[in-house]
Amino acid sequence: MSAPGSIQKIGVVGAGLMGNGIAHAAIVAGYEVILVDSFEGAIPKAIATMTKNMDRQVAKGSFSLADKDAALARLTTSGDYAPLADADFIIEAVPELLHVKKDIYEKLQPLLKPETILASNTSSISITKLASLTGRAEKFIGMHFFNPVPMMKLVELIRGIATSEATYNAVHEVATKLGKTIATAEDSPGFIVNRILCPMINEAIFTLHEGTGTVESIDAGMKLGANHPMGPLELADFVGLDTLLSVMRVLHEGLGESKYRPSPLLVKYVEAGWYGRKSGKGFYDYSTTPPKPSR
Ligand code: NAD
Repeated sequence: MSAPGSIQKIGVVGAGLMGNGIAHAAIVAGYEVILVDSFEGAIPKAIATMTKNMDRQVAKGSFSLADKDAALARLTTSGDYAPLADADFIIEAVPELLHVKKDIYEKLQPLLKPETILASNTSSISITKLASLTGRAEKFIGMHFFNPVPMMKLVELIRGIATSEATYNAVHEVATKLGKTIATAEDSPGFIVNRILCPMINEAIFTLHEGTGTVESIDAGMKLGANHPMGPLELADFVGLDTLLSVMRVLHEGLGESKYRPSPLLVKYVEAGWYGRKSGKGFYDYSTTPPKPSR
C-alpha cells in the first residue's frame, strides 16, 4: 500500500494512548511514520499495544498478517526530535499542558522543513493560541482524534485564525486516507463533540448527586431510553474523570456560562483520585468482573 499525495512521511510526537493509535492508523493507511517519545519505556509500550491491536484486527479479518508486517515495517521510532526533520506532516499528541506543547514547538522550529505542516491533537486548548507558539501559524491546525483511534471514525479539523486553505486541504486529505469522516469545527472551547458530550455527562453526574437516579438507573436509562452504546457514567470512567473535569473547566471559563459548571461530585471524585478505569475506580469499581457501582 502507498500513500500518494504531498504528504508521504508523518511524524507523531507522543506515543501515549492517542499517539500510538494515530501512528497505528497512519501506518495501516500506507504512510511512513516516525513516532517520537522522550520518556523511556513509552516507545516499547506503544509498539506492544500497536502489535496487540493489529493482531486483533488480523484475527477479525480486517487485514492479513502480511499487511500487518508491512504496516509495522513503515514505522520508525526515536527518543529525540532530530528524525522529524524530513517529515512532511507532524501530529503532536503529548499531554494536555500548554507549557509541554510550547516547549516541543520551540524545539521543532529550527528542525522542520519550511513546508512541513504541524497539527495538534489537543482536546481543549485554543488552536489559535497554540499556532502562535509554532512560528508557522498558517501551517498549523487542530486535528482531534477520538479514542481508540483505529476504531473511531471521526476526526475534527479545527482551523486557527491564520490556518491556510492549503493546510486545511492537505490535512483533510490525510484524514480521509486514514479512513476517517471529518467534522470541521470552529476554534471554540470543546470544538463540537466535547462541547456537546461533556455537559451531557456532567448533567448525568448532577443527576446522580441529587439522588434522582442510581448509577445503574442513569446508565440503563440512557442506554435503553436514548439508544446510547454506553451509559454516561460508564463513559465518564472510560474518558477519565480528570480529563472530563478539565474539559468542563475549559468550557466554563471559555464560555462563561453557569450551565458548564463542573458537578461538585465530579470534583470530589477527582480529588479522591477516582479517575475511572485507568485508576481502577470511578463511578464503577473495576476490581470485580463485572464492575460494580463504587457507591
Ligand atoms: P498520554 O499521557 O497517554 O500520552 C502522552 C505521551 O506524550 C506520553 O507517552 C509521554 O511520554 C509523551 N510525552 C510527554 N512529554 C513529551 C515530550 N516533551 N516529547 C515527546 N513526548 C512526550 O496522553 P493522551 O491521552 O494520548 O493525550 C495526548 C493528547 O491528545 C492531549 O492533548 C489530549 O488532550 C489529546 N486527546 C486525548 C484523548 C483521550 O481520550 N485520551 C482524546 C482526544 C485527544
